[in-house]
Amino acid sequence: MPRAYGIIGWPLGHTMSPALHNWGFAELGLDAHYTAWPLEPVDLPAFMERVRTEPVQGLSVTIPHKRAVMAHLDRISDRARAIGAVNTVHWDGDVLCGENTDVVGVVAPLCSLDPLPRSAMVLGAGGAARAAVAGFLELDIPRVAVANRTLDKARSLAADFGVACVPWGERMDARWELVCNTTPLGMSGDLADLTPWDADRFAEGAVAYDIVYNPLQTRFLAEAKAAGCHTVSGLEMFLHQGLAQFRLWTGQDMDEAGARRLLLAALRS
Ligand code: NAP
Repeated sequence: MPRAYGIIGWPLGHTMSPALHNWGFAELGLDAHYTAWPLEPVDLPAFMERVRTEPVQGLSVTIPHKRAVMAHLDRISDRARAIGAVNTVHWDGDVLCGENTDVVGVVAPLCSLDPLPRSAMVLGAGGAARAAVAGFLELDIPRVAVANRTLDKARSLAADFGVACVPWGERMDARWELVCNTTPLGMSGDLADLTPWDADRFAEGAVAYDIVYNPLQTRFLAEAKAAGCHTVSGLEMFLHQGLAQFRLWTGQDMDEAGARRLLLAALRS
């Protein structure tokens, strides 16, 4: 019987995770299968019992289970605890563990930058923003700030991580070497034409990082590129959080370039 993996979330819309992980299993000749499991919150406790008894070898966890799943695990990494969210469940022997690979996903595309940005503005204060702030602190970026439409949420995030909080209306007043959009502005659909940053407020040579990946080229990224910024697409975050999950589950590395080609083809089709 193939080893069982999958993603839980509700509602679970289209996700590229099954395509990514099943491709990785096939490439490495692993007898494993990854399934999309739509799971209502009320069904989470029973499902997590099944994870232990069947057993399920690994889980990706998405909204709304990222916090609730923590109560069903034996061990939670310091990183996941700091962010307050688990996006990956894996086994260490017979210990069921929770990890957050979104931080690795945020950080990985920036590691090759030389020099690294010395200041970062994070737009948004939700789950992805928490991963971004944690990642930028892991990168030792000396000045990190957060701005959010709802000020109280930005204040709370900033206090949790010891970073600055900037009112939403003042977010573009200072020069930032890295600007990271973690809001859904720019996502395909009703929000596609929107951006959280004015085109004429990008600083030439800065890094513009959009964690939205559909479309690949958001308005935020297109305008940043036109202003002379280095741009990073959310596809890179998605790819690297997935590669980190795969490594935790199998102890092996998926081919990064092949996985990127697969995701690009999926997004373009
Ligand atoms: P979330 O927890 O719901 O947070 C959303 C944030 O966006 C909140 O701070 C919210 O502000 C802000 N926001 C929403 N609509 C806005 C608007 N019209 N104007 C200004 N701010 C607005 O969501 P999340 O989990 O952080 O995810 C955010 C985005 O990241 C989603 O598009 C998601 O698909 C993407 N994402 C990508 C990856 C990846 O691998 N690339 C991973 C995770 C998430 P308020 O507090 O004022 O509501």
